[in-house]
Parts: sequence; C-alpha cells; structure tokens
Amino acid sequence: MNKVIIIRWGEIHLKGKNRGLFEKMLENNLKYAVKSFDCTFKKVSGRYLIKDFEPYLTDEILDKISKVSGVHSASVCDLVQSDIDSIIKKSVEVCAEKSGTFKVETKRADKNFPMLSVDISRKVGGEILKANNNLKVDVISPDFILNIDIRESGETFIFTDTILMMGGMPNGSAGKGLLMISGGIDSPVAGYLMAKRGMKLEAVHFHSYPYTSEQAKEKVIELTKAVGEYTGGIKLHIVSFTEIQEAIHKFCKEEYMITLMRRFMMKISEKIAKNNGLQTIITGESLGQVASQTIESITSSNSVATLPVLRPLIAFDKIDIIKISEKIGTYQTSILPYEDCCTVFLPKHPLIKPNLKKVQLEEERLEVDALIECALSNVETIEL
Ligand code: ATP
Ligand code: MG
Repeated sequence: MNKVIIIRWGEIHLKGKNRGLFEKMLENNLKYAVKSFDCTFKKVSGRYLIKDFEPYLTDEILDKISKVSGVHSASVCDLVQSDIDSIIKKSVEVCAEKSGTFKVETKRADKNFPMLSVDISRKVGGEILKANNNLKVDVISPDFILNIDIRESGETFIFTDTILMMGGMPNGSAGKGLLMISGGIDSPVAGYLMAKRGMKLEAVHFHSYPYTSEQAKEKVIELTKAVGEYTGGIKLHIVSFTEIQEAIHKFCKEEYMITLMRRFMMKISEKIAKNNGLQTIITGESLGQVASQTIESITSSNSVATLPVLRPLIAFDKIDIIKISEKIGTYQTSILPYEDCCTVFLPKHPLIKPNLKKVQLEEERLEVDALIECALSNVETIEL
C-alpha cells in the first residue's frame, strides 16, 4: 500500500466567501464516490489525498474520481519516507523504463527537511542520469517532469503524470433540474454537461408502449444510469405517452404531430419538476438539427413552460456531441436501434416553422388537461 492519489480541484478557486461550502460539497461527493473501496481519504492544504488502498485498485478508484465534477486533475504517486536515500531510490525506480528528456521539480512543504529544493532536484536528477542512459535533462521543455513533493507529515510523494479530470463544479452546488431523456445521443450528453456544472438531476422519459418496445425503455434506463454516475445516482420518472399520441393522431392534422407532442412533453415535465422541487427543465435540443429544433419549433414548446428550460447543446454540432457521448460512455447504448416515441406516427412532412397561433388552435381540438392528468396519474418512478 505505497501509493497515494492526489486530487486537485479547479474552478472552486474562483469562489470567494462561499469557497468552504463548495469544498465541503466536493469532499462529500468524493467520499461517496470511493466509499466502496478500502482506503482512507484526507484533506490537506489545497487538495485531497486517497491513501491506504491496494495498488491493483488504482484504476478503479481513478475511474470513480473521473466522474466527480469539480475535480480538476489527479496524480498517482509513489509514497516514501522523507529521507534522501528513499527519495533517490524510488525516483530512480520510477524513471527506470523511461527515455527522452526530463527535469526534476521538488516542493518542500516540510521546511525541516535538511536540503533545499534545488539541491534535492539536482542530486536526484544526477542519480537518475547515472542509472538510465536513455535519459537527458532538459529544464526548458522536458518530455516529462519528475515531481517530488515533501510533505510536513514526514512522507514524500513522487509522480510524473497529471491526469486531467472532469472539471466543472461540485454536483449539488448549482440547483436541481429535470432532464428530458430520450433514447438518443443528445439528451444524455445534455444531462452530463449540466451535472458537470454542479446541477443535481432527475430525469423524465416518455414512452409509447406497445408502439415502442420494452427494450427501448431498458435502453433509456441504461442511459439514465450512465448519467446518474455523474450525479451520485438519479431518479427516473417514466410517463406513458400512448394515449396522448393516439389522441393527437386521431383529432389533429398529421403535420402537427411532433409540434403538439413536444408541448405535451414540456407541460408534463414541468408538472413533474414542480412536484419534485426541481427548478429547471433540461433538453438535448441543438438549433436546427431536425424539424422540431428550429427556433420556431423551440418557441412553440417553450411557450408552454414557466420554468426556465436549459438547452446546453443548443450551439453544438452533432460531431462534437458524439465526441462527448463517446467520452462519457453513452454512445454505444444510444445508437442501439430501438424506436423512440417520437418516431411513432411520424408525419411525412412535419412542420418546420410552426406558427404559434395555428398550433394553439390545433391543440384546442384536444382535452389537454384531462390527457395530462391521466398521464401524470400513471408515472412510474425508479431510483437508479
Ligand atoms: P436525442 O438525441 O436526445 O434523442 P434528438 O436529436 O433525437 O435528441 P428530438 O427527438 O428532437 O432530438 O428530441 C429533442 C429533445 O427532446 C431531446 O434531446 C430530449 O431532451 C427531449 N425528448 C425527445 N424525446 C423524448 C422522450 N421520449 N422522452 C423524454 N424526452 C424526450
Ligand atoms: Mg431523439
């Protein structure tokens, strides 16, 4: 158990008086993330340390930390006692397989250590060179830096790599939102981005059984679970949309199908959000991506909402959304070919630029409130 993981936070630095609160939140989230591991967790000046774990668990622990928003970077370090012989021995070992150029950087928090930082760097660098002919010193732009961090505790951390983590703000520090999640690529990414900025999430999904399959629902549960890994778990509200779609199909003009569906989804989502103390609704819409995401279509669905509707992907290109979905591990699930409710009763020519007045008139053909009440009385909620 001679490894330690240093965890550094990012943007919290910018917080003034509230900084303590943000730090506490991050600390709690980190502790929660690693709670299943046999390890110890410590806060030291300006960073957190994870210690006393079996080295084979390192990657699993790093994976958990990579899903904690607010963490800027992490380094896996070798831990030795603070004496120059131990430091040299471990440094030489760490560099044994390396080649190219390097420099040694020493930080000495323990001012009682009997050598100055520059002297330690010079001494250790010299010993590394003696032991490894494939290395050269370059203090201006080295291929890697060997960091020696001599702590007040009598321990020294030695490491070469700094791994960039998720960044953002601690989850729970920026309110609570309801993510409208479909089986597609975009909405899980939208949820991830809001979680990254510190928002706690619940999710809502509309399905149209038997037009959509049980597998389509399972797929959405899978995707929601993946988003939940960034928010310390997540609740999913599943709403049956079948009756509403059938009613629109029966009573309204074909081309209004999607436009009207969107307004129903928004109204029902808002009720669920309010019933659960959530402050905003989040969608995966991206301007102009499809007919239902033109500014006119967005205006039509937005006009039924009173809560703010956040659309973190509004200015993203699909290719960039895909990159994020690959990074967060949702892409492969998102592309499974199960039908979403939006593809049921799909009109041949959906409205691209719906006129709000006409949409409202068309909607008047329906028992809107009764349909909404009925849908809300049958919500299935699961904790993931
Ligand atoms: P996604 O990739 O997220 O499915 P999309 O490009 O397919 O998005 P649309 O089908 O137009 O776009 O959906 C736009 C947004 O509306 C989605 O990102 C999601 O937030 C919401 N949405 C769509 N279908 C559903 C659904 N069945 N349940 C809940 N929300 C949905
Ligand atoms: Mg979709």
